[in-house]
Amino acid sequence: AKEMGRNRFELHSQSLSTSVQQRITIEHDLREALQERQLIAYYQPQWELQTKEITALEALVRWQHPEHGLIAPDQFIEVAEKIGLIHLIDYLVLEDSLKQTLRWHAQGFKLKQVAVNISPYTFHRQDFLSTVVELLTRHQVSGDSLEIEITEHALLEDSDYSREVLANLKKLGVTIAIDDFGTGFSSMSYLRDLQIDTLKIDKSFIDQYQDNAATGIILRNIIQLGRSLGLNVVAEGIETERQEQDLTRFGCQTGQGYLCAKPLPVEQINAQFVPAKAS
Ligand code: C2E
Ligand code: CA
Ligand code: CA
Ligand code: CA
Repeated sequence: AKEMGRNRFELHSQSLSTSVQQRITIEHDLREALQERQLIAYYQPQWELQTKEITALEALVRWQHPEHGLIAPDQFIEVAEKIGLIHLIDYLVLEDSLKQTLRWHAQGFKLKQVAVNISPYTFHRQDFLSTVVELLTRHQVSGDSLEIEITEHALLEDSDYSREVLANLKKLGVTIAIDDFGTGFSSMSYLRDLQIDTLKIDKSFIDQYQDNAATGIILRNIIQLGRSLGLNVVAEGIETERQEQDLTRFGCQTGQGYLCAKPLPVEQINAQFVPAKAS
């Protein structure tokens, strides 16, 4: 019995130390990644469904790991949130987007805005608003070139605080998008109370509406709701022309998805979408 007890303990302690070790490694690697600029923003176009014109880009972070190669955000965003590093990632992507916005403007690439994802953790930090102001000022970008994407989740916790932060962002000209719309616990009251500009319909609706009648009804009604409230409605994850046509018919204004392009590094955005500068 003594023997078994020890074995059990050893087994347990081994698996425990493995998971702790993994987390320490990711944490260590992430800190290093932030310092050594291994985290980079890719950009994915958004286009007007009516005119097919590209009017905006969404910044999406990637981790260029020296050993493991390109790592997608769903592999590290949650860890970064848990260990309190997510705001550093969000601010890094925000700053890159603002610098890039300036360059694109100078190149004559006409964009309404660049959209940046902000984690609920970042949104609820005391330094969030001041950091946005500081970065806009430092890089001399006007607020209306920036859209902030937040999830419904970020708005539920403290609605007085959310209202104040959003009102201040609006004063700067920054627009606000609700990301993954339709998947969260939508009380929808924030659509009445808060100054939202854009609804981004979650990709799952675009994936499923053709096979599921109820999803189609909800999708069409979300678009109508958004339009009736005067919001820009963006459909995420458009992969086929059929989806593009249907969403246009349903009244959606803006699309984003592989049909146009995957998230791409700046050089490829420039090569594929930025018109050659008239000399
Ligand atoms: P999201 O904000 O909902 O971003 C959209 C995701 O859908 C992106 O995944 C994008 O590559 C993917 N996508 C777009 N169009 C298509 C399509 O046609 N087909 C398919 N299969 N996928 C498509 P990605 O880049 O892997 O990002 C995943 C999530 O990670 C994002 O979801 C966002 O929640 C988070 N994330 C990314 N960058 C940041 C960041 O800088 N800060 C924070 N806090 N979160 C970020
Ligand atoms: Ca997003
Ligand atoms: Ca989304
Ligand atoms: Ca998402």
